Amino acid sequence: MKAGKIEQPGRAGFSSAPVPEPGPDDVLIQVHAAGICGTDIHILKGEYEARYPLIPGHEFSGVVVSVGDNVTRFKVGDRVTADPNIPCNRCLACQRNEPNQCENLQAVGVTRDGAFAEYVVVPEGNVFAIGEMSFAAAAMVEPLACVAWGLERLSIPPGASALVFGAGPMGCLLSQALHASGAARVVVTDVVPHRLALAAELGATETVLADDQQDRKLRSIEPGGYNLVVDATGIPKVLEAAFSYLRARGTLWVFGVTPNDARVTFPSYEIFRRDLAILGSFAVNRTFQESISMIRSGRVKVEPLISHTLPLEDFAQGFELAQSDPRRMKVQYQIGS
Ligand SMILES: [Zn+2]
Ligand SMILES: [Zn+2]
Repeated sequence: MKAGKIEQPGRAGFSSAPVPEPGPDDVLIQVHAAGICGTDIHILKGEYEARYPLIPGHEFSGVVVSVGDNVTRFKVGDRVTADPNIPCNRCLACQRNEPNQCENLQAVGVTRDGAFAEYVVVPEGNVFAIGEMSFAAAAMVEPLACVAWGLERLSIPPGASALVFGAGPMGCLLSQALHASGAARVVVTDVVPHRLALAAELGATETVLADDQQDRKLRSIEPGGYNLVVDATGIPKVLEAAFSYLRARGTLWVFGVTPNDARVTFPSYEIFRRDLAILGSFAVNRTFQESISMIRSGRVKVEPLISHTLPLEDFAQGFELAQSDPRRMKVQYQIGS
């Protein structure tokens, strides 16, 4: 089969691989759409817990083409997506019902071959039906499921104001999901004007360009500060600055992935004195169904976030676009037809 591979950090190319064999509890999916995530870029650069050589790709959708003997819930022809995370179900974290903190976490497209290929194998328990949802939209279920996990951890007070740093694909998912989950005001800020225009189209109540007026504008919108401040940039300096926009009793949600050796400084006395909270959320934690519901309801629109659709033959070019094209949002490969 055709496959995009990272042979070793820094080396990505279109190549071929044997069609994977489903085990008795597995489903073989013919991939139709697969999106490039920031994590894939980290994997390409050797900055993530991946194994090489690797077929990456963990945001995907497709059609079931064969099932193992023990599979009961899916059959050939079903349109599906899949949660890439495979917890071990036997470590202490799994026993505490914290599967995203599994000590032996495996992930499709990270520690085992993923969906930048014609076919991918996934355990039945990770597979979700998508009904009539488009393949392109269904390949966005995974990133929105990461947002859904953070939302489950967060409490959104009635009438809440939220401030999102970053209007890339994740920032636009976050802002829509916060709005759909009850935030009355969602302000989005970014350095890229066309990303802000898209965030506004998708329901951000205010957008603010990150220029030399940014700080003044953000404070004039909510002089008392924001209930929720979210970083979707992963830039340590931005995260540090984000802290100063919190209202008393506010929560800073650390969503963007900073380099794993980054350090930021927050004023500890203020955290104490103003009842502040700092909240992290890692990946997906059994939140696929919630994500599917948000997309299906139309409350979170995902297709406008897809800026580029490429054939798998343009594998390396996709990674270049996803890193440097000024118009980029989500870059997807369209694989089967
Ligand atoms: Zn991802
Ligand atoms: Zn485990």
